[in-house]
Amino acid sequence: MSQYDYDLLVIGAGSGGVRASRMAAQMGQRVAVAEDRYLGGTCVNVGCVPKKLLVYGAHFSETLHMAPGYGWHPGAVRFNWRELRDNKDREIERLNGIYAKLLDNAGVTLLNGRASLVDAHTVSIAGKRYTAERILLAVGGWPWVPEFPGREHVITSNEAFYLDELPKRIVVVGGGYIALEFAGIFNGLGVETHLVYRGPMFLRGFDQDVREAVLEEMREKGIHLHFNTDIAQVIKHDKGLRASTQDGREFEVGQVMYATGRRPKLDGLGLENTRVQVNDRGAVVVDERFQTAEPSIYALGDMVGHAELTPVALAQAMSLVRNLYGEGEAPPLDYQRIPTAVFTQPPIATIGLTEAEAREQCEAVEVYKTRFRPMQYSLTDIPERTLMKLVVDKATDKVVGCHMVGPEAGEIIQGLAVAMTAGATKADFDRTLGIHPTAAEEFVTLREPVPE
Ligand code: NDP
Repeated sequence: MSQYDYDLLVIGAGSGGVRASRMAAQMGQRVAVAEDRYLGGTCVNVGCVPKKLLVYGAHFSETLHMAPGYGWHPGAVRFNWRELRDNKDREIERLNGIYAKLLDNAGVTLLNGRASLVDAHTVSIAGKRYTAERILLAVGGWPWVPEFPGREHVITSNEAFYLDELPKRIVVVGGGYIALEFAGIFNGLGVETHLVYRGPMFLRGFDQDVREAVLEEMREKGIHLHFNTDIAQVIKHDKGLRASTQDGREFEVGQVMYATGRRPKLDGLGLENTRVQVNDRGAVVVDERFQTAEPSIYALGDMVGHAELTPVALAQAMSLVRNLYGEGEAPPLDYQRIPTAVFTQPPIATIGLTEAEAREQCEAVEVYKTRFRPMQYSLTDIPERTLMKLVVDKATDKVVGCHMVGPEAGEIIQGLAVAMTAGATKADFDRTLGIHPTAAEEFVTLREPVPE
């Protein structure tokens, strides 16, 4: 009999923590997971899932606008934010219940309460101490807001999901995933939306053509974009908020939402009682097997600061558990080719290298791209145009980057991600038959590279 209460004690029941605990329990380990908030973590409660539901909700304004082109004339249209919010909340509750069942069915003990490390093998939860041979930290992240006068008046994505009223006007600050997705949501739901970004162009790290296409489409849909500026202060008055920018602009708004990145949620975790190291960005330092500097403590997911994405946390969890409890070593995770989508309107999806990265890494590069008005808009006055782009390493003919801005981009790129993971060449794309008529077939009919 082991000297410990558990073989594995996981702190945090988000995507990574739940997957690791279920898998380890199914492999015969005695597992507990500690959680003081909701089951499912950021993704299920204040991230991917509710965000996507709100994106669906926001898209109806465009669908209704398109309807007359197809002969449909909806009657008096009315939007009720609270109905959408409450229906979304019920769905999240349902998912919380499913997570509880999954843990229970796998034989994982759920310990309710905030967990704090006492030493390398001991965790304190709600005044009780538990020991474990191994401890896995999977506590995720939390929105981060810089210091400025009036910071206490702004919200983050955490609060945006639960607003009592939709504001008439909003300022969204930031130029990453969350800022752009929420700008699209608010705009689609009829809120006058101003996006404030400190640099000259948002979506740093994405392909330049993608960034430009998104900028064009967001402007076309009526989102007010303000670049090269930042919020200087926010003042609360009896009619709402006044946000002033450093270059002297003022916005009278109902809400200011900050989406300026997320940070690992380490407060109160008791890392100081262990040898676990934290880097200058606040992320827990782990090796490629997710082990911290304290050999019995592991960490994964958003708190280790690789790509902050649910599928990455899931892959990390499965890799860790296979290595700890499976037969033979699993190879280290490959972070080179992570497909990702930003659920703007239209959405972005991408995998592999940007054109600029490919030009740096490959001797010669061929670029194929197309921009077209999707068929679904042909009977409407919506001018939205889709972008598709392939980046090919000329020496090997391998497709090294694949980018799209347009309806269902995430669904389409997921399929192409399989091809790219398998090492598909441009010749493989060329000999693939299209499915007609779809937007996706354009990816297999791109014949002429963009002239150098
Ligand atoms: P991001 O890192 O994507 O973006 C943060 C943005 O805030 C950047 O534009 C950054 O600008 C800006 N910023 C940072 N610091 C400041 C500051 N002090 N003042 C003004 N602006 C600032 O973070 P998000 O919060 O949008 O999302 C966190 C992560 O969550 C994402 O990186 C992503 O991994 C994940 N996520 C994934 C989603 C998906 O898969 N669809 C959806 C939502 C989140 P700059 O670029 O100039 O540094």
